[in-house]
Amino acid sequence: MRIVVLAGGIGGARFLRGLKKAVQGTGVTDITVIGNTGDDIHLFGLKVCPDLDTVMYTLGDGIDEEQGWGRSQETFHVKEELAAYGVGPGWFGLGDRDFATHIVRTQMLSAGYPLSAVTEALCERWQPGVRLIPMSDDRIETHVAITVPEGEPGAGERKAVHFQEYWVRLRASVDAHAVVPVGADRAKPAPGVLDALASADVVLFPPSNPVVSIGTILAVPGIREAIADAGVPVVGLSPIVGDAPVRGMADKVLTAVGVETTAAAVAEHYGSGLLDGWLVDTVDEGSVARVEAAGIRCRAVPLLMTDIDATARMAREALALAEEVRA
Ligand code: GDP
Ligand code: CA
Repeated sequence: MRIVVLAGGIGGARFLRGLKKAVQGTGVTDITVIGNTGDDIHLFGLKVCPDLDTVMYTLGDGIDEEQGWGRSQETFHVKEELAAYGVGPGWFGLGDRDFATHIVRTQMLSAGYPLSAVTEALCERWQPGVRLIPMSDDRIETHVAITVPEGEPGAGERKAVHFQEYWVRLRASVDAHAVVPVGADRAKPAPGVLDALASADVVLFPPSNPVVSIGTILAVPGIREAIADAGVPVVGLSPIVGDAPVRGMADKVLTAVGVETTAAAVAEHYGSGLLDGWLVDTVDEGSVARVEAAGIRCRAVPLLMTDIDATARMAREALALAEEVRA
């Protein structure tokens, strides 16, 4: 059995850790992860891929567990030295250990290797136990249209900012008018992405952000079609529990694309053309009928990734729902 998972950062990575545990000793031969690169940003001349790294560090036991991103036992000397030179931005947390990853990545990219090959090379160190492929080797950057807040230059004007500036610097404190994966329309799926989908037995959407993680992956021409055409069960887990994101600010970007922040609305947003099964949390049991009315098989189960065992149970529920769909 081959499983393909579309993943953003923290939600995707934590789910994958549970999935790996859930399939231990079963007949699953491999897990392929198609990672979001819309969050990628160039800082200090380096290419930073936050979501790929979160998956890599989490599955490779190098993650800062509490934060959910960045390296464990991190120090910030380089960042402090840069700040002493007046070189920013200071709002993006890059630690010394993390810097090394971005240096290696940038060096390999400069030598002509595509991001997919670089990611494979980085994973040789981390041994994540899954095949991690960026959604595309082409540059894609999610931008967010905002109204510049009071107290900042150009207050009241509309402008587009990089997703990281919206999420990390502004903490999504202003409304997002639009979310655009710049470059996605001209991008190609990375080598291996379409093949993995064509040979998949099941496709899973972890509780990743439906707009800026999974939505961005689906915006790469060919990926959505390959999932729909694969003819295998596609099952997702809701990142929205009790009408709010479990973590983060997904409600802001859902509102920007006209989707209400409920587990049922996210399922409808993906639609029955893409999704066969959907798991909602037990607190959202009341929305099961609405999801099923949209033509998507739905179950209510505990969806909080409080520890690896709870997460493994979520993964088993997703695989069980996939088998129900298949039957
Ligand atoms: P990011 O790139 O780091 O933002 O991570 P993802 O896009 O992969 O996942 C973010 C989403 O994970 C958020 O919308 C959260 O609501 C969701 N999430 C985080 N922890 C949990 C959890 O324990 N359960 C569920 N159901 N969703 C979660
Ligand atoms: Ca992300």
